[in-house]
Amino acid sequence: MDFPAVLRKIKDYTKYKNARSVAVQLPEGMKRRISDITGEFNDKELIFIGDPFWGACDIPQNGNWDLLIQFGHSPIPNLGSFKNVIFEEIQEEMDFDVSFEKIPFNSLILTSNVTYSSQLPRIKEKLEGSGIKVELKKGDSRVFYPGQILGCNISTARGLEENVLFVGEGMFHPLGIALGLPDKRVLAFNPRTGEYIDMDKEKRKFLGQRYAAIDMASRAKKFGIIVSTKIGQTRYSLARVAFDLLQKAGKTPFMITLDLVRDEELLNFPADVYVNTACPRVTIEDYGTFSRPVITFYELQMALGLKDKSRYIFDEIVMTDEIGSTSFRKRD
Ligand code: SF4
Repeated sequence: MDFPAVLRKIKDYTKYKNARSVAVQLPEGMKRRISDITGEFNDKELIFIGDPFWGACDIPQNGNWDLLIQFGHSPIPNLGSFKNVIFEEIQEEMDFDVSFEKIPFNSLILTSNVTYSSQLPRIKEKLEGSGIKVELKKGDSRVFYPGQILGCNISTARGLEENVLFVGEGMFHPLGIALGLPDKRVLAFNPRTGEYIDMDKEKRKFLGQRYAAIDMASRAKKFGIIVSTKIGQTRYSLARVAFDLLQKAGKTPFMITLDLVRDEELLNFPADVYVNTACPRVTIEDYGTFSRPVITFYELQMALGLKDKSRYIFDEIVMTDEIGSTSFRKRD
C-alpha cells in the first residue's frame, strides 16, 4: 500500500478541501503512521481518535469536527451515507498467488475481508484457469464488495456450493463462515504467511466453548443485556426481544448500553451472564477477557430451550436500529 499516495488522493476530495477541522480514525495497526498524516494534512486542524475501532459500523457521532476520515474499512451501505465522513479502506496490493494443489475443491465460493476484496476477481480468474469452478457472490445490504466477509455478516459465502475459500489474515472471519454455514467446508488462506487452514478443527474448538457458555446461561438467574451505542451495532429491538424472553422464563434481565464492550465496564453490574447484542466479535474474539459468560441472542434462545441446540446459529447483523430519535445521527 502506498500510504502517502492515498493521503494525496484524499486531499483532492471536495469534502477534504471544504473542511477546516479533520478527525482521523485509524485501526490499531496504523496508529504508528500518524506522522505521515500530520505531514500531509498540515493545512487542517487535526485530531486523532484514540478509541479502538474495528469497522465502519463505528462512526463517532458527537465530535465537533467538520470531517471524519476513517481508514481501513469499506462503508456499510445500509447505514446510509454520511456527508461529513470519508471511508478510506486500505486494499492490499501485495503480490501473491493461491496454490491450486493446496485447494482440495473442484468448485468453491470465493471470499475475503476488505483488505483483499479488490484482488478477488483476479484470484477467481486464476482458479478458473486451473479448472476450479468459482462463485464470487454479492452480499446483502450490509456488505459493500462481492465476496466481502464481515465479522458480523457472511452473506457472500451463502450458496449451493459446498466449499468456501477465504483469503485474508486472522481467524475471526473464516470462523464466522464455518459456524454460520456448518454444512460447508471452509478453507482459510493467509496471503502473508502462505498458510492454508481447514476451519473444521477451529470450529469444533470454538463450539466447545460456546456450548459451555450456553450451559452456564441455562442455569443463570440474572442477565445483563448489552446494547451498543455505536451507530452500526445498535440492536435495541433485538435486546427488547431478549428482555421479554428472559422475563417470560422467570429470569431477572436488565439492559445496559455501552460504547466499548469490555469487562471493566461490566464488573460492577450484578449479572450472572451477559447477552451481547453489540458486535459479534466481542463474543467470539474477546470471550476470554470477560469474568462472566457472554452469549449471543441465539445462544440465549438455546439456553432457554427455545431453539434446538444441535444446530448452532451464528450471530449475524444485517440491519441495525437506534435508541430513540434518529435526529442525533449525522447522516445525509
Ligand atoms: S459489527 Fe463488528 S464485525 Fe460487524 S462491521 Fe462492526 S466491527 Fe465489524
